[in-house]
Amino acid sequence: MQKAVPLLFLQISAKKDSGTGTFFRKKVYNRKNIQTGTALYGILTRKAVFMTEKELRRRQLQRRKARRKHILERLAVFIAVCLIAVVVICAGILPRVGSKKAEQASAEAETSAPLTIYPVISAEPGRIAEPTPHPYNTYTGSSDRADFAVNPAIPCGNNEISGEKIVYLTLDDGPSYLTASFLDVLDEYGIKATFFVTAQSPEYFYMIKEAYDRGHTIGLHSYSHDYATVYSSVDAFFNDLDQIGKIVEEQIGYVPCFIRFPGGSANYISHDYTPGIMTELAAEVQARGYQYFDWNCSSGDGAPVENPQDLINAATNPQWDTIVLLSHDSGGKETTLQALPSIIEYYLSNGYEFRPLTRDAYTSHQEIFN
Ligand SMILES: [Zn+2]
Repeated sequence: MQKAVPLLFLQISAKKDSGTGTFFRKKVYNRKNIQTGTALYGILTRKAVFMTEKELRRRQLQRRKARRKHILERLAVFIAVCLIAVVVICAGILPRVGSKKAEQASAEAETSAPLTIYPVISAEPGRIAEPTPHPYNTYTGSSDRADFAVNPAIPCGNNEISGEKIVYLTLDDGPSYLTASFLDVLDEYGIKATFFVTAQSPEYFYMIKEAYDRGHTIGLHSYSHDYATVYSSVDAFFNDLDQIGKIVEEQIGYVPCFIRFPGGSANYISHDYTPGIMTELAAEVQARGYQYFDWNCSSGDGAPVENPQDLINAATNPQWDTIVLLSHDSGGKETTLQALPSIIEYYLSNGYEFRPLTRDAYTSHQEIFN
């Protein structure tokens, strides 16, 4: 027969209490060996708490209820977060899927379906203006562009900004299936621009000659437009430049002196591949007879833009009299094409003249960070 023992500290059942998880449960007997209750010995608190079996069950029940409530609350929060995430993802993806489909459709129907050109929109956001009468662009283009060929003996580019109201519209990353439409819009306004070309769509190389023959300046951008390749070394850069130079030479008869660095001279991504390369290239291209042109105004179409009005707002906010405007005529830039008439109208109405780059054009060099 079991001996009577003092309160507490007898027959530790050594069973973890399922209600608390941190207590050992002990049966407690009085001196007559009758169980009087249960002691819970806290592992963390190192304290014993005496309570009757009834009280213990009541507390366990209470804890289980609280736990269940807590789990249900967390579950509800989790479901709510999931629902919000699904709604946000759907809202983001659906328009993109739509625009991707539209992009594919437009690429397929590029020759058959004419693109919708946006009507003239006021440069002041939120106000729809009457079309403003503007003078026809006065620049007629250089009659002899043979001196545009790269030649270390002839200086190229002007680093000083003049007080003249000039827009040098530059279109990068073409030619593409959109280049023909860009040329038509430019012709409509009698505007000469500059195309910094790449070799991304060889099937449209003939558009380089077409643009040149219609009075525009052709500049070199990049053969691959792959930062890792172009900026892996100085030699790799000139190898890429020579390749696009040869393609342009086949189309227009010479290698032009005008270049635009992929990402511009202020790009920092080149630092990932070769620290200091932009500083070296900026000097080296000029020593070899080229000149690099950056920009001081951007339509912001480097990233996909779905609303042409956003491009118009960005491109018609000039900080200077002489503007070198960055835009793109590569595949997928339909919104740039739609925005272009309004951008042109804005500048013509405000007394600017559009010109293609020439040997004495403003270079708009940016600060070099690498
Ligand atoms: Zn580019």
